[in-house]
Amino acid sequence: MNGCFETVIHRADLCVAGGGLSGLCAAVAAARHGAKVVLVQDRPMLGGNASSEIRMWVCGAGGSNMRETGLIEELSLENLYRNPDKNYSVWDGIMYEMARNEDNIELLLNCSVNDCAMDGGRIASVTGWQSTTQQFHKVEAKLFADCSGDSVLAPLSGAEYRHGRETEAEFGESIGKGVLPGDRKTMGMSCMIQARQESRPSDFIPPKWAKHFTKEDLPHRIPNMSSPYENFWYLELGGDGDSIADTEKTRDELLQIAYGLWDFVKNDPSMREKTRNWRLDWVGILPGKRESRRYVGDYILDQNSLQAGGRFEDTVAYGGWPMDDHDPRGFKNTDRPNAVYPAPSPYGIPYRCLYSRNVPNLFCAGRNISVTHWALSSTRVMGTCALLGQAVGTAAAIASREDCGPRDVYLHHIDELKQTLMDDDSYLPFDRREIPTLSKEAELVGGEGAEALRNGFDRPAGEADNGFICLPGDVIEYRFGAPSEVHGARIVWDSELNRESMPRIGGCVFTHNMMCNKPLDMPDFHPPKALTKRYRITGVDRDGNEETLFFTEDNHQRLNRIPLCGSWAAVRLVPEATWGNEKCHIFSFEVY
Ligand SMILES: Cc1cc2nc3c(=O)[nH]c(=O)nc-3n(C[C@H](O)[C@H](O)[C@H](O)COP(=O)(O)OP(=O)(O)OC[C@H]3O[C@@H](n4cnc5c(N)ncnc54)[C@H](O)[C@@H]3O)c2cc1C
Repeated sequence: MNGCFETVIHRADLCVAGGGLSGLCAAVAAARHGAKVVLVQDRPMLGGNASSEIRMWVCGAGGSNMRETGLIEELSLENLYRNPDKNYSVWDGIMYEMARNEDNIELLLNCSVNDCAMDGGRIASVTGWQSTTQQFHKVEAKLFADCSGDSVLAPLSGAEYRHGRETEAEFGESIGKGVLPGDRKTMGMSCMIQARQESRPSDFIPPKWAKHFTKEDLPHRIPNMSSPYENFWYLELGGDGDSIADTEKTRDELLQIAYGLWDFVKNDPSMREKTRNWRLDWVGILPGKRESRRYVGDYILDQNSLQAGGRFEDTVAYGGWPMDDHDPRGFKNTDRPNAVYPAPSPYGIPYRCLYSRNVPNLFCAGRNISVTHWALSSTRVMGTCALLGQAVGTAAAIASREDCGPRDVYLHHIDELKQTLMDDDSYLPFDRREIPTLSKEAELVGGEGAEALRNGFDRPAGEADNGFICLPGDVIEYRFGAPSEVHGARIVWDSELNRESMPRIGGCVFTHNMMCNKPLDMPDFHPPKALTKRYRITGVDRDGNEETLFFTEDNHQRLNRIPLCGSWAAVRLVPEATWGNEKCHIFSFEVY
């Protein structure tokens, strides 16, 4: 008991605090690799800034074929399959079920971590208050991952952290020119709005407490409702105060400017003719946050290492969004709301940024990793955060199995971590995946170019396609010489990393996972046309008899891992139909 309220005790290998995309991916990766996980999330839903409570679409590395894969691609493809009109409740449900589907995850929603007990320098347990049950939940675990964005476990555990912008002198970052020592400024927070276009006009009456704006008040911030990529991210405040303690009062002001901006869109003489059929659909009341505390790990990624391409031997994730730094004054600054500095795409992010330097059993993933403010302005996007979460969860499963801490994984198990990530379709741009011995030693029959299926690269890179194209009904076969025990197949299909076949809206192909504003007669979304939908795997015995081992006509995922059994002289893959293209495009087919 804690006062008059009950305390429920949970035991796990890993406790993840915070269920945004980084925390969700950390929990799922650890669980799938055998760790018992408790995922504690203070909101009623998962997804953090990607959820229906905040409504930011997932961005990531720029450039051709740079889309993040692994768990984030699994979510994104499930969303294309099940959510044709990009409904936020359906997307919430897809993130929720990803956690719910894992027997190894105990999910504590509506539970806010606010305490932690130490044993020496290590975290022994964390405790949270669950508002729906009026219970405290205490999670005792070997390992902890702080994915809360605001790094709630840093002050509670005494882990070192940074807050604010680095001066130029500190890391030699040229972008920091002009920043004074002791700076505590950050990027701000935002309450988003969404709108939809209808076939009839509508009026908008603003609340009396909304701000009033004219065109002159909104330099660089005039909404363009005809672009599907319009969203209201620049409704931003709070970076020049305390981006944690000031949240509630900042929210009040954010709501005043959100309604005020929509009043401008609907009622300003310069806008109202163009926007008469647009209607306000939703206003977010929970501010989405961009920046607060960042952990100090064994390495701090900065502008220079990022711009140099981040070729670390312990690269476990990559970024590729530009350094997109927002003015701390946000909406109160009348100049451009952000300044964009180039970043290579991809650049590597080292594993040493993903755990605390001084608390030996504490990982971190998401916007709170060990980076400078200027590097954060790139690493913070959610495609990147999801990769960081997957890396942390996979590392935690290894650490739990080996009964060691995060740093030991760096010292003794980094190759295993990297290979496991690549096997799970998390792309590591500077590494090649190892091929299982059974596939390496077998004869591969399929036609010219089939060798690409076992080259250890699962996406196009530079001039190399790294894939194999065939017609539906063609056969790709591994011949083993003598019958061999087969335990499974691993296939990576082309899921269109550039999403070429997505619907065109407002004259451009729309490639994000969700939409902000919905135009009239928005076309339905669908799985990528290049993706193979129907295929079979067969086994051939020593006498040439063929047996179907697996068949599906509903594949909508890029990575397929099919358990197989039996002793076979050959195993065949027969792609039979795609979601729309004439030919099938496969990056990898291996048996083991
Ligand atoms: C307005 C806005 C626009 C943005 N635009 C984009 C964009 O277009 N594309 C893009 O990819 N990124 C964008 N970003 C950046 C991106 O959303 C964040 O950097 C990213 O969400 C960080 O991921 P995270 O998992 O670390 O944190 P979050 O997504 O914030 O998730 C952390 C979760 O932890 C929970 N939590 C916090 N404290 C506790 C606690 N004590 N106990 C339990 N749970 C807790 C929170 O409720 C939250 O759900 C934007 C951010 C904002 C605010």
